[in-house]
Amino acid sequence: MTLISSRHPAQQPEAWANQLVRLHERVVADGGLGLGTPWQATPLPQPRWVATNPALATALGWPEDWAEHHDALQVFSGNAVWPGMVPFSSVYSGHQFGVWAGQLGDGRALTLGQIDTPLGPQELQLKGAGMTPYSRRADGRAVLRSSIREYLCSEAMHGLGIPTTRALCLTASPHPVVRESVETAAVVTRVAPSFIRFGHFEHFAYARSGDGQTPALHSLQALVDFVITHHEPDLQGHPQPVLALLQRVVERTAGLMAAWQAVGFCHGVMNTDNMSILGLTIDYGPFGFMDAFDPDHICNHSDHQGRYSWNNQPQIGYWNLRALAQALLALLPRGEDSVSAVVEVLQRYEDVFVQAMHARWMDKLGLTTSQDDDRTLVLDLLQLMAANQADFTITFRRLSGFDSRAVPGADGGPVNAAIRDLFMDRDAFDAWALRYASRLRAEGSVDAERAQRMRGVNPLYVLRNHLAETAIRRAQDGDDSEVRRLHRVLQTPFDEQVGCEADADFPPSWAQSIEVSCSS
Ligand code: AMP
Ligand code: MG
Repeated sequence: MTLISSRHPAQQPEAWANQLVRLHERVVADGGLGLGTPWQATPLPQPRWVATNPALATALGWPEDWAEHHDALQVFSGNAVWPGMVPFSSVYSGHQFGVWAGQLGDGRALTLGQIDTPLGPQELQLKGAGMTPYSRRADGRAVLRSSIREYLCSEAMHGLGIPTTRALCLTASPHPVVRESVETAAVVTRVAPSFIRFGHFEHFAYARSGDGQTPALHSLQALVDFVITHHEPDLQGHPQPVLALLQRVVERTAGLMAAWQAVGFCHGVMNTDNMSILGLTIDYGPFGFMDAFDPDHICNHSDHQGRYSWNNQPQIGYWNLRALAQALLALLPRGEDSVSAVVEVLQRYEDVFVQAMHARWMDKLGLTTSQDDDRTLVLDLLQLMAANQADFTITFRRLSGFDSRAVPGADGGPVNAAIRDLFMDRDAFDAWALRYASRLRAEGSVDAERAQRMRGVNPLYVLRNHLAETAIRRAQDGDDSEVRRLHRVLQTPFDEQVGCEADADFPPSWAQSIEVSCSS
């Protein structure tokens, strides 16, 4: 791998590759089913920058002023390509809301290519750059509203330390796009080591080869080999590569679900086509960080059954892994042995998730040792928060400042008042606080040290819907400064930032009327 240093990406045509295109060509030449289609974006009129991401550009080894030269604005709104770029839309299938949906694919995404960077090889992908062979009946566009949400949330998740695709920049155009109302178009440039989804594997397990009879196993095998070669090189030569790859994905997905739960994040469309093989958060459509804690919170207005509610997400992660495992089974010898081996790997999910989740809750409470009734202490807090509709983010952040020596509620003094005030049922909180205080004392917890640790895991700032909404409304009126300001705040969500108190505050009452749906 060559490391790029501060040369403008337009000046390094030799650097741009598209490994998926290469794999596609090889698979087709070998008589397999193709992985997608080389494709061009559909130009957008009068593009403007809404945001460039200087921190990410620097991390990629690009010069600070990369966005100002070489038609960068045109390239990242789909109106031009730089030498060496080979744009490509890939094909995948998937289960949507628990039902097999058949072929889907990059209906509005176009991978520009892959470059070597100090972060390792990274793919750059436009989202919203026009129709592709996989657009079905849709327009290939993304509206400014949802693109701002994707840009900000990708970077907010990164700031929180949660695996995610990144967002390099955001461009907008006055081009009208019809959703419930007429909106305008935007293009987000996403960055990730790979955008391969569970649905890619499902596609080739169930698609038929040219003779219409045999499943496209040749392509499926090529995809597995590709992922191992490029993303899990230590599994090369493994005696059971398919199972070993599945195990990696099981473990990563379990870890990701725990990470989401711990910040009150809901994805909203956890379909198998929106599950990354690398365990990244991907495809920000309807998503949300909870305000008042409700375990049954549904962030997607279109999810009528609550399939993807906060509480359901971990088991949906498992459901999706089962769909992936079912697809991979096609590569293993027929018979019960293969089925049992796959089931055994899948069973790792629960162990890894439970452990990861427990560790997250312990960290959120600042506990460094383990005791038998820790689980109950956590569950009782969550129950109390739910019953009192306590704000998820604010509760944990304020708990960081918990005074373990004070007797809760005694003398009506201001002891732990900031936390206590979050609960309508003060007595119930006091009872829990007594247990928490004694649990902290039992491990000799030092409040100041604990507070510092807890403030490193309990964020002050998350991308609440109303914060995104304010940035969206301003940008729709032509003022993009709030998008960039929020981005800066969310880059360091654990650090108190002067002048940003309102970003850490309770949502205003109008936040309840914000509806986030699949319309994007
Ligand atoms: P999602 O659940 O939003 O990730 O999208 C599901 C599928 O629909 C994917 O194959 C997307 O590429 C496709 N899709 C969503 N919106 C559009 C659009 N406006 N134009 C073309 N394809 C779309
Ligand atoms: Mg998707």
